[in-house]
Amino acid sequence: MSNLKAPKRTGPCPCQSGVEYGACCQPYHRGEREAPDPVSLMRSRYSAYAAGDVDYLVRTLHPDHSERSLPDELLRSSLRAACRDHRYTGLKILGSAVDQERATVHFAAKVFQKGKDLSFSERSIFAKIDGAWRYLEGSTD
Ligand SMILES: [Zn+2]
Repeated sequence: MSNLKAPKRTGPCPCQSGVEYGACCQPYHRGEREAPDPVSLMRSRYSAYAAGDVDYLVRTLHPDHSERSLPDELLRSSLRAACRDHRYTGLKILGSAVDQERATVHFAAKVFQKGKDLSFSERSIFAKIDGAWRYLEGSTD
């Protein structure tokens, strides 16, 4: 699928890590490897929103996440709209607590829609399935 927003491998990663995309979230987006910890997964999901990578957003959604009850095409079209209509300009990890199979990541995300500031902070819960972290649920602060 062509993607006009796709960042360049040598450009800055949209997760705002300060690292090049190819050395940061790109290998996760491409499925070359799994994000090794919940904070990396959180960052890579944020940069997937910024890059319009709907496949990755679906792949990293936990099977028990509430949006999984949506028909696949509806889930994908709502994610596509979220990617398309918003600008993702900054991410700050505020804290994380990691257990063996479950983790909480507290973060602040800068998001704009047509110049309107929709930035928010959230505590996301991630759970491990077959060795890979997945996004289970989140609650905004
Ligand atoms: Zn990144």
